[in-house]
Amino acid sequence: MSITQTGTIHDDVRRLVDLEPNEDPVVSCYLDLRPGAAADWRGALVDRFSALRRTVDARTWQTVRQSFDSIRAYLCFERDPAKQGVAVFSRGGEDAFFLARQFDTPVPTSISVDAQPDIYHLIEMKESFHRYIVVVLHSDRARVLEVNLGEATLEALKENAASRDRVAQELTHTHYARHGNFSEGHHVLEIAEVLDSLVSHGGHKHLLLAGDSTCIKLLEEALPRAVADDVSEILYLNADGGQDVVSETIRRYIEHIEDEAERLIDVFRLSFYRNELALAGADRCLAALHAGKVDTLLIAPRSMPPTSWKCDDCASYVVSLAQPHSCRECGSTSSSEKNTLNELSYLAETTGAGIEVVRKASLLDRIGGVGALLRWT
Ligand SMILES: [Zn+2]
Repeated sequence: MSITQTGTIHDDVRRLVDLEPNEDPVVSCYLDLRPGAAADWRGALVDRFSALRRTVDARTWQTVRQSFDSIRAYLCFERDPAKQGVAVFSRGGEDAFFLARQFDTPVPTSISVDAQPDIYHLIEMKESFHRYIVVVLHSDRARVLEVNLGEATLEALKENAASRDRVAQELTHTHYARHGNFSEGHHVLEIAEVLDSLVSHGGHKHLLLAGDSTCIKLLEEALPRAVADDVSEILYLNADGGQDVVSETIRRYIEHIEDEAERLIDVFRLSFYRNELALAGADRCLAALHAGKVDTLLIAPRSMPPTSWKCDDCASYVVSLAQPHSCRECGSTSSSEKNTLNELSYLAETTGAGIEVVRKASLLDRIGGVGALLRWT
């Protein structure tokens, strides 16, 4: 199966999670394609390739080489020079698999080879790849726009409000524009249809409504069920005719997501100190995820222990650099090494737990880089 740039990042993550492991390893590549990047991606590929050649057995080497051939061919023939980052997942052998996606924003270069693909960075992109739909509706005109802000853009915008106007033009795509009499509800169904298609095909979760409040009320009444169900938040913005509504939505949206992240950390802090429906530390969070109890996972990747061990018999986890002698729960001496971040990501994705990547949280840093808000204990 070969998939390149179809559907959303969310679809990619689902496909990778659903990929059945077999004896052939998956090569996962995230590459920072910018010319001045800290690590040269071509050099990183060559280094990893030669290191693997020296270390894996002859049979595995055959399929690893096939995977690298597909990756190189993709980068050679299908890379868009305007893109700054790429994620490629490739498996050789009988049940071959290939998935690639290019990004407008850079990703940190990392290449790994394992039975399961390394999905963490993709999840991070998915969570931080901020996109929303804006409807600007006045009594005499309407516009529907899609805004895509990467994490890097978002950081730049927080620093420099003046660049919002430029970004507003570069990162928006207009899907609908019409003049007419909207105050009596004409054409409202037309707008609702555009929204329906954007939400169901584009996977949008945020909808921003701006403009005349009477017209917006009419639109809300006409929204199809699918839109109301799939969109997790509808934000409202007062806008008169003059100002640039799009750059105003960016300001409003940034405020909103900062509030949301802070709110989650506050909830976690309170629950954790009360010892109610909150857990800290990778081994406990992994066990809770495994039991399907986790509602939201808060992670600070930089302070997380890299390696965990999963008991092959009872599936309990121990966070440790060295392989544990025996399992604390069942005494088994057989365990498998796991990348903590990737294991957390997999389990969260398969059990429907939300993931919030926290960038500045001293509490999370002190408790091992990961906390969980639970559905039940
Ligand atoms: Zn065990």
